Amino acid sequence: MRTHYCAALRATDIEQTVTLCGWVDRRRDHGGVIFIDLRDRSGVVQIVSDPERTPASYSDAEKLRNEYVVRITGRVSGRPADSLNPKLPTGEIEIYADHIELLNAVHQQLPFQVASSDHETVREDLRLKYRYLDLRRDRMTQNLQLRHAVVKAMRRFLEDQEHFIEVETPILTRSTPEGARDYLVPSRVNPGEWYALPQSPQLFKQLLMVAGCDRYYQIARCFRDEDLRADRQPEFTQLDMEMSFMGQEEILALNEALLCHIFKTVKGVDLPRPFPRLTYAEAMDRYGCDRPDTRFGLELVDVSDTLKDCGFKVFSGAVKSGGMIKVLPIPGGDHISNMRIKPGGDLFTEATIAGAKGIAYIRVREGGEIDTIGAIKDNLTPEQKAALLTKTGAEPGTLLLFGAGDTATVNKSLDRLRQVVGAQLGMIDPDQVNLLWVTDFPMFEYNADEKRLEALHHPFTAPHPEDLADLATARAQAYDVIFNGIEIGGGSLRIYQRDVQEKVFATIGLSDEEAREKFGFLLDAFDYGTPPHGGIAYGLDRLVMLLAGEDSIRDVIAFPKTQQARSLLTDAPAGVADSQLKELYIASTYDPE
Ligand code: ASP
Repeated sequence: MRTHYCAALRATDIEQTVTLCGWVDRRRDHGGVIFIDLRDRSGVVQIVSDPERTPASYSDAEKLRNEYVVRITGRVSGRPADSLNPKLPTGEIEIYADHIELLNAVHQQLPFQVASSDHETVREDLRLKYRYLDLRRDRMTQNLQLRHAVVKAMRRFLEDQEHFIEVETPILTRSTPEGARDYLVPSRVNPGEWYALPQSPQLFKQLLMVAGCDRYYQIARCFRDEDLRADRQPEFTQLDMEMSFMGQEEILALNEALLCHIFKTVKGVDLPRPFPRLTYAEAMDRYGCDRPDTRFGLELVDVSDTLKDCGFKVFSGAVKSGGMIKVLPIPGGDHISNMRIKPGGDLFTEATIAGAKGIAYIRVREGGEIDTIGAIKDNLTPEQKAALLTKTGAEPGTLLLFGAGDTATVNKSLDRLRQVVGAQLGMIDPDQVNLLWVTDFPMFEYNADEKRLEALHHPFTAPHPEDLADLATARAQAYDVIFNGIEIGGGSLRIYQRDVQEKVFATIGLSDEEAREKFGFLLDAFDYGTPPHGGIAYGLDRLVMLLAGEDSIRDVIAFPKTQQARSLLTDAPAGVADSQLKELYIASTYDPE
């Protein structure tokens, strides 16, 4: 049908006769000369038709409208000097259309302009409803192609350089605990029983290691029925990997090489190696969060020891009740007004969203003087004041913002303030790429609702060998990769001994029977010669989003769902016939009233 893609033509093709297929991106009638931007997935090229030079196509060209599908044969010509378009790869040429064949017209009013030159912002619900039109647009075409390039780079590296094989794992399976709710599928042939869709291929990839597969990867769809906070999708894609006979250092090194390969291939960027590392404890201490954005400083300082005995009750009380006092020092932050820190101010609001009751502050003046509310100023001894200034390294002009209270809230609120202030002060270079490992996460965290410990990563993560004596407080051999403050991947070394796995199940409150019932197949497998193994999974959607410079993963997924977990295109989820439910032995208890 065609000889070239539209955007493939260059000045070196002048005088060739070519046949192109695509959509009319736009059509301009310049009184007797018709210009058509013809678009396919590669981009656009200009087609010309006029009654003198291309009499055979002129009347067909007149009938074309935006988004008509056409096939055009014509001669490639150099553009006149005054109409060169350096912004287009095909901007030096145009094609005189000898023949235009209309393959299909548009029969309804377009819901929005598709033209790649059109930067009009279209409402997202419209884009999602007419996704096939939205995907024709330049930005989305680029995003899909970038996603493909990323996956291709992953495959090339893992398969060709590192001897991984891709293995598919079941979609209809049992619950795999990654901390979210399962999507369930009723079994018609096993009445009353249910499959769960995988939250990740975790257990299967471990079983593949027991099976001797040695190095596995999969571009894997995962399903998590989470309340759709922020930018989540009920189904999303991971690059999932597992490997045998490798320690943590080897796994991290291999993954650094993988990420470097991806960045080099799709962005042309050489990332410095090795990636910096922080332990979880360091990350929490210095940044108040386990996925810090290290493109800027503004590190937190723990001043609990310095101020625990001071007369200001908010400070001393925090430490007495087992919490802490921490400072976010902002050099040159003097221009941040009290209004912003006090109730009603934007920084105050940020802190309260994170659970803090407010923000205490001190302004550092010349000669070691400080400026703050009386309750603080009058209750600090000269020694405490001096120690505070030394500890925070605060120069005159520095604004100290305090968090005091339980450790989690202090960290959460100061982390938030740090990010807001860092962005407002222009401390973040948007072109910088900081990749970072965070390691040594705790094995467990306390779930106050269920009054039990739960696995921070998942219960198959191996404890640190030095911490086996007290599992409850043990560090995990787990690691996350952070990209400019966003977690893009995480994994761990796994437990491969039955007794250790049973202890971990017991620690999270799983009885022997429950453990047998849910994970008996895994425990049994451990008895049949399981190699030491470990792995990692990357959030593909997030990684591609960051590489594309997009703000939402919806913009790098071909057919995403809304925040209400709906497809506006197919209108899923939808009701089903009663007969279908009956076959499945299901009756709905939903009552819209
Ligand atoms: N299965 C884990 C996850 O989905 C990743 C891993 O531990 O490899 O987060």
